[in-house]
Amino acid sequence: MANFSKKSGLPLILGFALLLAAAPDAGHCQTLRDYTEARSNMVARQLKARDITDPRVLAAMGQVPRQRFVPDYLAPLAYGDHPLPIGSGQTISQPYIVALMSQWAEVKPGDRVLEVGTGSGYQAAVLAELTDQVFTMELLTELAQQAAERLKTLGYYQVRVKTGDGYRGWPEEAPFDAILVTAAAPQMPPALTAQLKEGGRLVIPLGEAGGDQTLVRLRKVKGDLKEEERLPVRFVPLVRE
Ligand code: SAH
Repeated sequence: MANFSKKSGLPLILGFALLLAAAPDAGHCQTLRDYTEARSNMVARQLKARDITDPRVLAAMGQVPRQRFVPDYLAPLAYGDHPLPIGSGQTISQPYIVALMSQWAEVKPGDRVLEVGTGSGYQAAVLAELTDQVFTMELLTELAQQAAERLKTLGYYQVRVKTGDGYRGWPEEAPFDAILVTAAAPQMPPALTAQLKEGGRLVIPLGEAGGDQTLVRLRKVKGDLKEEERLPVRFVPLVRE
């Protein structure tokens, strides 16, 4: 997971142009059929070939048109095994990380799920394939508006998007069966642990911006958080309002 800052915009675009030229798999997407094929290759090679085993998560990842969640000029790269810039200095996570977080969250139909860090809305759309109760918060107004519009256009009417500081969670809609944070927090946000149901799963990258971060899965057991999974990662920072 790369962390893209605004400053690195130009080299980044050049880098992606090179990637585009060098990636025959992803680089030749022009028609809807090309994208459908690239998506099923992504599911087979990046998810099934690794440790994504939950059939509902695999089906969700095979369903959501990721190319619609990235800027047009990057659409041909949408199914590559990497994150991509989505504007405002933010990134959409690598497909594998989205799938892993969804799998760790163990979302069942009817579960209430909170995502902190809407970004493009892609992770929210994947969650919406797993339950009809998805709540997502984004600090940046422009990204929140774009994501809300995009999700509606694609038919994900059940996703509720709110502009605001996700560090405080969404108390009016709590408690949640699962909470996914898609930006790295230096410390555990207390509001999020409070808004998690007993038995609920919290998936969150912990660590400093640009430093070592660990994606963890915590489960609330008898009121305490029990750590069950961990993986080294690199996310953009969770910013405080
Ligand atoms: N899940 C997104 C990618 C998220 S990138 C996707 O699928 O595309 C992380 C996002 O978290 C960024 O859009 C950033 O603006 C947002 N963010 C950072 N701090 C936040 C906060 N305190 N509350 C809500 N969103 C925050």
